[in-house]
Amino acid sequence: MSKFLSKSHLSLKAYVPGEQPTDKRYIKLNTNESPFPPSKKAIAAVKREATSLNLYSDPSAKSLKRAIAKYYGVQEKEVTVTNGSDEALAFCFMAFCDSTTPMAFFDVTYGFYKVYAELFGIPSEIVKLKDDFTADFDGLKKTKGNVIIANPNAQTGIFESLEAVEDLIKSKKDKVVIIDEAYCDFGGESAANLVKKYENAIVVSTFSKSRNLAGGRIGFVIANENLILDLEKMKYSFNPYSLGRIPLVAAKAAIEDVGYFKECVGEIKKAREYTVAALKELGFEVLPSLANFVLCKTDKMDGKSLYLALKEKGILCRYLGEERIKDYVRITIGTKKQMRTLIEVLGEIL
Ligand SMILES: *Cc1c(COP(=O)(O)O)cnc(C)c1O
Repeated sequence: MSKFLSKSHLSLKAYVPGEQPTDKRYIKLNTNESPFPPSKKAIAAVKREATSLNLYSDPSAKSLKRAIAKYYGVQEKEVTVTNGSDEALAFCFMAFCDSTTPMAFFDVTYGFYKVYAELFGIPSEIVKLKDDFTADFDGLKKTKGNVIIANPNAQTGIFESLEAVEDLIKSKKDKVVIIDEAYCDFGGESAANLVKKYENAIVVSTFSKSRNLAGGRIGFVIANENLILDLEKMKYSFNPYSLGRIPLVAAKAAIEDVGYFKECVGEIKKAREYTVAALKELGFEVLPSLANFVLCKTDKMDGKSLYLALKEKGILCRYLGEERIKDYVRITIGTKKQMRTLIEVLGEIL
């Protein structure tokens, strides 16, 4: 730290991303990426676009917005796109919260919510998940501020019903309710249609997980057009060209390639089913996940030792180390072959 860092950031604890190691080739099950390559159409579009990189990208991202709107059956003006959904989340904190309007979220969830709250000087209202890690919606409804949930939830993979989400949105009429659907395509149900009915509902999603483009950094928001205007006010006050030409065309091609998307998501679901059953057979406790990862623990070993033992054997998973889930590791669902290797290696370790 330098002596110049502003006082307001002295106590800021930055988000710690999962490892992206370069020392050797791991079976990489630690950051919930897709094990499959991007759509061939996305790769072709990227190659074509490369010759235009001397020119700025379209700040309005019109053709990508149109493609997303078409896929979700909403209007173009109900969509905006961002540099990863992390940026979309940041814009939500910037646009709708301040020192007197807190953000409420669960104690076990995506770690960035807390970081953004601190970065922007926004108080957070933290509500505990129930003992079985399902959502305490009554707890959330009692909070004063805006609300953000991940559905399925980050770290646990647990999906909460759309009825429960709608109920939450209704009960928070004077606040925004943000639903982070990074993992929704793996078996959940999107709340995107609710944005027509509720002016306070915001759906945030990403091309990083289910659309095989984590390295492209593309996120998007679906919401009432006035909320979109507010978010775009943030974007145009921060970085109007936040999406480059390459991600814009890659994302458009990817969302139009519905066949490949379904194929990949189908493979992940099958591999998840296999993994959960095999982990249980090895004596693991596995939380019921509708995401592309599972949170699990064994009473034979603590979470950190298991993470280290797997790493030693060339498999990377995520040890989060947060108090309530310190016994658990989070394992991304890869290909069936990768998961078979994982199960074999776990058998050896235990
Ligand atoms: C991965 C993830 C994100 C961030 O995705 P990017 O689009 O890659 O920035 C947001 N929310 C949750 C819950 C995630 O797991």
